[in-house]
Amino acid sequence: GLRLRGLRKSYGDLQVLRGVDLDVEPGEVVCVIGPSGSGKSTLLRCANHLEPLDAGFVQVDDVLVGYEPRDGRLHESSERDIARARLRMGMVFQQFNLFSHLTALRNITLGPTRVLRRDPTEVEREARDLLARVGLAGHADKLPAQLSGGQQQRVAIARALAMKPAVLLFDEPTSALDPELVGEVLAVMRGLAEQGMTMVVVTHEIGFAADVADTVVFMDDGVVVESGPAERVLRYPESERTAGFLAHVR
Ligand code: ATP
Ligand code: MG
Repeated sequence: GLRLRGLRKSYGDLQVLRGVDLDVEPGEVVCVIGPSGSGKSTLLRCANHLEPLDAGFVQVDDVLVGYEPRDGRLHESSERDIARARLRMGMVFQQFNLFSHLTALRNITLGPTRVLRRDPTEVEREARDLLARVGLAGHADKLPAQLSGGQQQRVAIARALAMKPAVLLFDEPTSALDPELVGEVLAVMRGLAEQGMTMVVVTHEIGFAADVADTVVFMDDGVVVESGPAERVLRYPESERTAGFLAHVR
């Protein structure tokens, strides 16, 4: 699972995260919703250590990164711990971020062979299985430019899965897609959820959150305003701010 505690992050005078706590149990799907600028992307980037934290810590499985209170002092993690933590998290971005000069297959095999130094033959077999799992069995040798946005995003999901992460983090994975391509990506994500993948999904797709999320977290202005079972938060929000946001996006 994933545990975020007291995450704080500022850019200059702007406090973007003001002490965020979040627990994601193994197999749980958490959808994070909230207005533009509320800190959702920053939360994922800090969780994955793409941005350094100002305070707080992130624990994924047994690896803790950040500022840990121990022996009455704060201990800052080493680069080595950060690298270990990152290996346990897969990230899927709005803008796919595939390597444009590599085929779909090579995009998927790169991490396991180069970073994990695993056997290329075995990695390639797994990559082909992953391509089939995201509905792209016939597309292994295509370059990203030869694939639709929805297909590219499914390659990006397969690439993240190839590292066998403990948790997958998605930052608005469908918001750069043409409307007719959104469904195929959400269907793949729904399948992963059903297979027990631990996932944190920042999304504006309230319907997806209602169907797939175990927990919905509403963020505003750098804090978690409200979180709880998806149906409870989406249908019977306790906070005026959550209700106002939901009325606006639906
Ligand atoms: P959206 O729904 O539009 O994606 P968000 O909830 O993901 O919004 P963030 O991208 O986390 O919001 O940004 C939160 C705030 O932090 C915004 O005011 C943004 O301008 C600011 N911000 C984010 N990244 C940086 C940065 N690298 N430098 C300065 N300010 C930043
Ligand atoms: Mg964002």
